[in-house]
Amino acid sequence: MNFKSREEILEYQNKKLRCCVEYASKNSRFFKNILKNFDLTPDDIKSIEDLQKLPFTTKNDLRDNYPFGLTAVPMDEIVRFHASSGTTGKSTVVYYTRNDLDTWSDLMARVLSTTGLTKKDSMQIIYNYGFFTGGFGFHYGAERLGISVIPTGSGNTKKQIEIMRDFGTTSFTSTPSYAIHLGETAEEMSIIPEKDLKLKIGVFGGEPWGEGMRQRIEELFHINAYDNYGLSELCGPGVAVECTEKEGLHVWEDYFIMEVIDPKTGELVGEGERGELVFTPLWKEAMPIFRYRTRDISRVFKEKCNCGLHFRKIERLHGRSDDMLIIRGVNIFPSQIEEVILENPIFKGHYSIIVERKESLDTLTIEIEVTKDLFTGNLKDLIELKEKVEEKLNNVLLVKANVRLVEEGAIPRSQGKAQRVIDKRNIGGIK
Ligand SMILES: [Zn+2]
Repeated sequence: MNFKSREEILEYQNKKLRCCVEYASKNSRFFKNILKNFDLTPDDIKSIEDLQKLPFTTKNDLRDNYPFGLTAVPMDEIVRFHASSGTTGKSTVVYYTRNDLDTWSDLMARVLSTTGLTKKDSMQIIYNYGFFTGGFGFHYGAERLGISVIPTGSGNTKKQIEIMRDFGTTSFTSTPSYAIHLGETAEEMSIIPEKDLKLKIGVFGGEPWGEGMRQRIEELFHINAYDNYGLSELCGPGVAVECTEKEGLHVWEDYFIMEVIDPKTGELVGEGERGELVFTPLWKEAMPIFRYRTRDISRVFKEKCNCGLHFRKIERLHGRSDDMLIIRGVNIFPSQIEEVILENPIFKGHYSIIVERKESLDTLTIEIEVTKDLFTGNLKDLIELKEKVEEKLNNVLLVKANVRLVEEGAIPRSQGKAQRVIDKRNIGGIK
């Protein structure tokens, strides 16, 4: 749908919200209970402002109702299940009707076309096809747009590069950390992107990544790299994406109402302030959900985008509030550490963050890979480099960080989400 102003979007959201409340109050046992417990009727929620009368839905609600407690349709209407990995507890299950899958495909087609992709392109889907939503989300969106889909799935790095070369692939999607690994493998194979590959666009997500990482990926492949955002509890990818301006991600506000809250108080933050993103999807049949707390921290940009879209933009994500490390009382996002590392072109983006507790004091050690030449070269250069990075990190994090430079290949590679943080403190509640 083509919106000409914010007012038009808001009017549309209010109308859709009333439909969703009406629908969920009839069909979702979970939502009926909420209304009952909060002494509300569907008529009490007529506009975005009224939404605040409803409680948040959290990942715990999904876990408590595992696996099918949030359904609003009979089982025979459900055509797909996805689930989160469950690395931090019981997995959360999401279900889709035929219409849900259709809408999700439309949302993903829109994501891809916003980055400049068209039916003339081909896309290698380098995500795992399974319970994880990345593979199928991109697959269906690309097909919907008419892109030639190359469903390689994750893994088998060299083969991925060969296919890129042989098929003349023009775009791909993967986690950003795996994209770097792919690019380095291509280098090792003596593949020259400008000559041997036809790639022009990459769309990445699934883990937080900053501008340094974007630059690295763009240099490795000679492509434009775009960030996209979504989460499995809402649908998977398909909630927001960067346009070609690369300054924030447009949220599909005709399909999602977005709120930004203070994660401690649950109150809405002021305009443009940073807080936790909360979404209410306006289209779900199998699993209607209201005010879902994402744990993701971002802020809404006030400025209008040059690309002409009226959907508001959010800042690229610093990380999940779950990912946040509390070290000696200071809040630290792994992405802040990554930014510092990737600012220096000597580093290729392979690092680990190790948190330990020694004599009841937290210590932070960052292991960063350097090339073999540098590692076995002049010790003085190595010490200088280490001290330079330590100083920069201390300035940014306000906590002392010890840097340990390690030889190329010392940090294990991952084919999906990179395991950056190793927290050895073993304290409940804090990762
Ligand atoms: Zn834009």
